[in-house]
Amino acid sequence: MALANLSLQEKLRSQALSDPLTGLYNRRFFEQKLTEHVNNSATSTESLSLLMLDLDHFKRFNDNFGHDAGDYVLKEISAMLKRTVSDDEIACRLGGEELAVILPHSDMDEATEYADNIVTQIRTMHLEHKGLSLGQLSVSIGVSTYPEPSSDIESLVKMADKALYMAKEQGRDRVVNYRQYSEAKSPELELVESQ
Ligand code: GH3
Ligand code: MG
Ligand code: MG
Repeated sequence: MALANLSLQEKLRSQALSDPLTGLYNRRFFEQKLTEHVNNSATSTESLSLLMLDLDHFKRFNDNFGHDAGDYVLKEISAMLKRTVSDDEIACRLGGEELAVILPHSDMDEATEYADNIVTQIRTMHLEHKGLSLGQLSVSIGVSTYPEPSSDIESLVKMADKALYMAKEQGRDRVVNYRQYSEAKSPELELVESQ
């Protein structure tokens, strides 16, 4: 009885932390883990990086192939991410077609290389659904790193988001990190942004 209760408790706990469609961690767990790592890193010299992923033209994909095929793609991409991350790295579904990976031991260059590998893996996936080829898929990824240049969780997420937005603007199917983002912004624009 006690054992049965324990496994039920464990099941409930894991359901509360994971996303039902993809089995990735959910936004709640993502926020919890980021907070934990950032708090712990006060005593560490290591960098933590965040990848923000957003599938490209996914609305159009659903319109062309149907919502079920879209769900299937989300599951397959999530399964690939689960295979890619190591034990202490965390892949999450933040909502919709937006995913994130926390890399607790990677600096910005390492994280950018890691993200490049994900972009390539997704570009070379050839999926079929109900006998129909789903064509070429792609993702855009923004990268930022703590404690430099971002000094807290809020700016870590914001900087990765800005880099992601730039990856979309530059044509999608690519990685942009926050260093590239800030170098690409002209001084005039930075002035406007800070006002
Ligand atoms: P962009 O390249 O700019 O990201 O274009 P987009 O079409 O992906 O962006 P937008 O945010 O406009 O649309 C996201 C779409 O993702 C809308 C919705 O149809 C689809 N989507 C979100 N969640 C799910 C889901 O759980 N299943 C399926 N099949 N589609 C989803
Ligand atoms: Mg989106
Ligand atoms: Mg999208």
